[in-house]
Amino acid sequence: MRMILLGAPGAGKGTQADIIKKVLKIPTISTGNILRAAVKNGTPTGLKAKAFMDAGALVPDEIIIGIINERLQEADCAAGYILDGVPRTVAQAEALEAAGIRFDAVVALEVPDDVIVHRMGGRRVCEHCGASYHIVNVPPRQEGVCDECGGKLVQRKDDIPETVLSRLKEYHETTEPLKTFYGDRGLLKVVDNYPTVEETTAAVLAALGYEQ
Ligand code: AMP
Repeated sequence: MRMILLGAPGAGKGTQADIIKKVLKIPTISTGNILRAAVKNGTPTGLKAKAFMDAGALVPDEIIIGIINERLQEADCAAGYILDGVPRTVAQAEALEAAGIRFDAVVALEVPDDVIVHRMGGRRVCEHCGASYHIVNVPPRQEGVCDECGGKLVQRKDDIPETVLSRLKEYHETTEPLKTFYGDRGLLKVVDNYPTVEETTAAVLAALGYEQ
């Protein structure tokens, strides 16, 4: 299963990807997590990306395409993968297509903007492994500590309210057209917002043809 999880920032892509990757036994590739690690480690890519990320703006397409082309060649991607947060522009989607990268399904998580704004205030991520939590909806077993690796949970700089609103605007203008792009290719599966993480997972798996 080679799939893309599409959706606004805060729609739950990371949370769903973390669950679905275990069910399907394939890796998740999150450009956001790769970029955050690059910034933390001060790599050349991280230095280029940091200002865009702090402002909640998109990182230039050529940086993203380089990251993805390299990552998809690693051995663990042979049986499939979940792309989380990429492609984010039609130019990125076209570049992946031009590189011969094909997908079996593109799942769009539809969450209203007001729900997203509320959610983002409570989001916490592991600064070590990138796993995503919510202080109310998806709390870790121990407050402030990652269930997966024991890392420290922190609020992302780009989750402050003003930045969330500009990221949502960017999503509607720049990323949402991908629904038409992949719809035209017969790959789009739209999954509506459900009150719980479990119901959303079940809906995503059903959309992919896996009944639980
Ligand atoms: P995310 O964790 O997916 O919300 O990504 C965090 C930030 O990383 C975004 O606000 C962008 O600055 C950058 N980023 C991640 N993925 C992409 C992408 N595919 N294209 C451009 N910028 C990206």
